[in-house]
Amino acid sequence: MGLNKQQYDTIMREYERIRDMNHAKEAARRDEIYSMLPEYRELDSSMGSIAVRQVMMALGEDVSGTDDVHSSLSQISARKKQLLQDAGYSTDYLDPIYTCTDCKDTGYIQSETGLKEKCHCFRNREIALLYDQSNIQDMISSENFTTLSYHYYANDDLERFKRTVDICKNFVQNFEQDYHNLIFYGTVGTGKSFLSGCVANELLKNGNSVIYFSAVGMFERLAQFTFHSEGKNELVSFYEDLYQCDLLIIDDLGTELTNQFVSSQLFSCLNERHLRKKSTIISTNLSLEEIRDRYSDRVFSRLTSNYQFCKLTGPDIRMLKKRNTNLSIS
Ligand SMILES: [Zn+2]
Repeated sequence: MGLNKQQYDTIMREYERIRDMNHAKEAARRDEIYSMLPEYRELDSSMGSIAVRQVMMALGEDVSGTDDVHSSLSQISARKKQLLQDAGYSTDYLDPIYTCTDCKDTGYIQSETGLKEKCHCFRNREIALLYDQSNIQDMISSENFTTLSYHYYANDDLERFKRTVDICKNFVQNFEQDYHNLIFYGTVGTGKSFLSGCVANELLKNGNSVIYFSAVGMFERLAQFTFHSEGKNELVSFYEDLYQCDLLIIDDLGTELTNQFVSSQLFSCLNERHLRKKSTIISTNLSLEEIRDRYSDRVFSRLTSNYQFCKLTGPDIRMLKKRNTNLSIS
């Protein structure tokens, strides 16, 4: 699925906004330093006049003293750093600020072949626009590994949850070098989606592309593109995103209306991602037996041979949280 012009413009405007915001931050920092360290300001302006001389020399207007210019510029730089350091600032305090240092907030990077290509931050903005990612964005804005609480679990449930959290943290840590898949299964409301969200959050921060789908949403979209003639082109690029993104999360597998189409699409997806060594996380309320009975043998065998199964059990946390909120309101 490609971006239309309006969506592309939306993304480019977002980069403009980020650049403006960072320029404003840089200016505020410069003002702060200038008012606190007047010598710094003087050094900056003398650097400016030296730079003018340098340009003139480069134009052949004055060739004397080239070495002097270089050495005074480097002396001034060193002095400026020293001033910052003495005042308790880091020496890069006045360097340009970038939200994405890879593309310097332009959305594009130079590929190895020398061509311009989309930066990972552009890819994630594209994914968010194309495949409504509001679900996962809402989830990870409030919940992540640092807000994690063991408060709702006890005994065996707690042990299972802790073990799975460790597995998730390892998954994130080894993501670049290890191809690994996880399936969270067990009863409703035991933190399965929450853990997928935590992993997604960390990987997005590291610049990976992550696509999150509820099973219902994913199969609906596949059906829509497959069975409508105008969707054929969309289908090709949808497959490419689905099979190629760094991490695919399929949430709530089993809540969709399962039929042969769903089963075969699921197999293609798992299989393609396995061949490409791209990791996937699935969460489901189904038991192992139910997964086996509901999907084809091929799907079940892909899952059992390529996925680490993590069982989560316990009370329905969403219900508990709701009840607590109601109690505190009443
Ligand atoms: Zn970027």
